[in-house]
Amino acid sequence: MSHPTLLNALRRSPVFALLALGATGCVHHIPEPVPAVTFGPETPPNFQPFPNLQVCWVEFATGSLPHGAAVAHGALKANVPSTQSGILLKSPSGNWLIDGGQSAQLKEEMKEVHGLGGFFLRQAAHGWTVTSTPADALRAAGVDPSTLAGVIPTHAHFDHLGGLLDLAGLPVLLPQAEIDLANSILAHGGFGVLPKEARILVARARPLTFDGGPFLAWASSHDLYGDGSVVLFPMEGHTPGSLGARIHLGDGRELLLVGDTVWVREGYEDREPKGWLAQPFDADHAAVDHQIQRLWALHKARPDLHILPAHDRRAWVEMFGHPGCTG
Ligand SMILES: [Zn+2]
Repeated sequence: MSHPTLLNALRRSPVFALLALGATGCVHHIPEPVPAVTFGPETPPNFQPFPNLQVCWVEFATGSLPHGAAVAHGALKANVPSTQSGILLKSPSGNWLIDGGQSAQLKEEMKEVHGLGGFFLRQAAHGWTVTSTPADALRAAGVDPSTLAGVIPTHAHFDHLGGLLDLAGLPVLLPQAEIDLANSILAHGGFGVLPKEARILVARARPLTFDGGPFLAWASSHDLYGDGSVVLFPMEGHTPGSLGARIHLGDGRELLLVGDTVWVREGYEDREPKGWLAQPFDADHAAVDHQIQRLWALHKARPDLHILPAHDRRAWVEMFGHPGCTG
């Protein structure tokens, strides 16, 4: 069961949408992919072709996530360690930061959002312990923030975009669909991008075009450095212009950052959507289900590929050990 019109219903009648959501219940396993997901080009295991790329886990905030919000079958009382983190890419061809945590001015920015949308946003913003500003985290990783080539949010929600916008003046690379979402919210109101962040985003956005061919389980892609080390691909669903990134760590491992398509790894391992508390944050539930099918199938076919949900701190620790740089 999915709820593709929840967000629209929420805009029109939040109480009705919430009641409808509660009444239908959301515990379901997403079917196995039919027709089968096809996989594009792969790189051989332990291939280490990118000695110039250094990859860093930069962490901005920690918290805990109710398991029952992250996946439908989970218990609301059980908590999973969560994170707001980014991936810093250090390369002679340009340094980029993917995701930046929340803005230092988040409380002020939230004041513009009212109603049930504001309620859900305040729940999502509650309980984070900010550990570092993006600028300080970048300096700790050896990069002067002003020297970044640009920033790339996996999507334009406050906990990924706000910190990036605090890095003054940098171009923000993201798909046109996400820029359209920001423009739509400024013109018509809505839920997804904070108005203040939408205004800054629209001024600094550079449209990301998926000009490359099929990649893994996705129909198009963009090769960030032109050497295959970092490939971006569209993951529409959580938001219209969400993206994923496949990154070579330089030690033979590959990670697949999947943004908020799933909040925890059980989402793709068990083919399960988020719990009802988190459902309002997914813009298109059918599209999210489709992405989860792809991740499940990809995980089966390529267990060596480390799938990294943006907020599942267990997965970040497994991947990096602790915040810092590889190599
Ligand atoms: Zn998020």
